[in-house]
Amino acid sequence: MAGKRAGSVLLGIDLGGTYTKAALVSEKGQIIGEKHVPTPAKGFPEKILSCIVSLGRDVVTSFEGDYLKIKGIGVGVPGRVEGESGKVIFAPNLGLKEVELGEKLTAEFCLPVFVENDAHLAAWGEYWMGAGKGAKDLLLVTIGTGIGSGLIINGRMQGLRDGSGAELGHWKVRRGGKQCSCGSRGCLETEASARAMVNLMQEKIQGGKPSALAGKNDFTAEDIFNAVEKDPVARRVVDNAIYFLANALSNVTLLVWPERIIIGGGVSAAGDKLMKPLTKIINDRVKSFGEPPRVVRAQLGKMSGAIGAAAYASRCLEK
Ligand SMILES: [Zn+2]
Repeated sequence: MAGKRAGSVLLGIDLGGTYTKAALVSEKGQIIGEKHVPTPAKGFPEKILSCIVSLGRDVVTSFEGDYLKIKGIGVGVPGRVEGESGKVIFAPNLGLKEVELGEKLTAEFCLPVFVENDAHLAAWGEYWMGAGKGAKDLLLVTIGTGIGSGLIINGRMQGLRDGSGAELGHWKVRRGGKQCSCGSRGCLETEASARAMVNLMQEKIQGGKPSALAGKNDFTAEDIFNAVEKDPVARRVVDNAIYFLANALSNVTLLVWPERIIIGGGVSAAGDKLMKPLTKIINDRVKSFGEPPRVVRAQLGKMSGAIGAAAYASRCLEK
């Protein structure tokens, strides 16, 4: 029709614990439209499925969907996924276990659907059109409530053989250590995630350490970063997180030498307060052995998962 845009696009969906986001992305990586809705309460797979379907249809019709040809759909899930079949093996934050998500969505949309772990898809997004553009290999680490990661080496996502992948957040970093959501103790996530920082700060305050945050009921990792200059307790909490994060990232570097390390998730908003000391420690640890990776902040923000899901669908369809 005259005046209307036509072309092939991909629909990317990021099924998060709080929000479900959708993005329509052209084959060249241009974002055509995006929307998000709250994710239904955990434990109701049918509600989650109908949420994805209605959001997907909504974003397509809202952005001239009638004139666009959707080639395929990518879906990111925070959990373990069987890539070939699109079955969600286990997504604890959504209460999903053994759900044939790929099959059900294929039946609803009558289009090819590709389901993967959300952090892996965020890594594809950064690789395709974000902070990883032009790099052959990269490690994406998302630091939010938890810590997720995706490793791309030579243009290939690592370790998706049976639905498992890079799980930097669950590297053991401290003997004993705190209980982690995975059942183990002393994981990186229990030392360096936003939740870990808030927990440690609360412990210190309850232990009687003087802090400007002591009177606040609800503070966030962002508040802790904002307080570092004047608050020695906040400084110690931040230093602890950076120490463990930098060690883990140095160790990855010494093993696989990614060209870029991309830091995403809510904690990356701390900017230089995080990135400068982190980069310095990694450089110091690895420079005797090779070229240190470039450590940069993620560029796609909250839409990285949805964009990455579209990128992944595009890639799967190319094969
Ligand atoms: Zn763990």
